[in-house]
Amino acid sequence: MSAPTPLTYKGRPVPYIAAWSAEIVRLPDVLIGPTGIRLEGYPPDLLSGVTWKPNRDARGQGEAKFDVVHVPRQRYAMGSMLCQVCAHPVERNEYGWPWLLEDHRGESGWPQEEVTTHPPVCPKCQPVSALQCRHLRGNVVSVRAGRFVTDGVYGQLFQPGRPARKTVLFAGDARLRWMLGGQAAATLYDVTIVDMTTQAPVPREAVRR
Ligand SMILES: [Zn+2]
Repeated sequence: MSAPTPLTYKGRPVPYIAAWSAEIVRLPDVLIGPTGIRLEGYPPDLLSGVTWKPNRDARGQGEAKFDVVHVPRQRYAMGSMLCQVCAHPVERNEYGWPWLLEDHRGESGWPQEEVTTHPPVCPKCQPVSALQCRHLRGNVVSVRAGRFVTDGVYGQLFQPGRPARKTVLFAGDARLRWMLGGQAAATLYDVTIVDMTTQAPVPREAVRR
């Protein structure tokens, strides 16, 4: 499949996984049952076993919502290793697959086994993504992940008798049936911090901003 046409809104490139206003659906009532949740008016998703937040499919219509993720496109990008910005397949180099992460170098062990809901970003799109994504601005590190497992679901957990809460659950967790999925999540392993421009490894302390 060829990558979809790049779109801009008011002169800014719109990431592939960003939702447009015509795609946003009012969330139906969440019906909480003894065997799981479902959405009023929607059939249960028996295939994935998770109920996902619904979106319409109308990319390019209305206003670009840079801060709202289009759930099916986010899942597709994550599952097919497409750049979340340009939707081209990302390519691995000898250090692994390209990702942009929020900078948590102050935390011990980071970025090994980092769990992220952000699909990969190809090196060509990394500079613009680093500038335009609000959560990354001035706080971003380019990495290569030697291995990854996409088996997480970030969303809202509605367990009977408990207050709803946002969390990440992983494949095999029986509570997934009570999860309203918002984004697929990947766990990254064998992570190497790289220079965003050269994509070559750099010491942890010496990341160019
Ligand atoms: Zn890209």
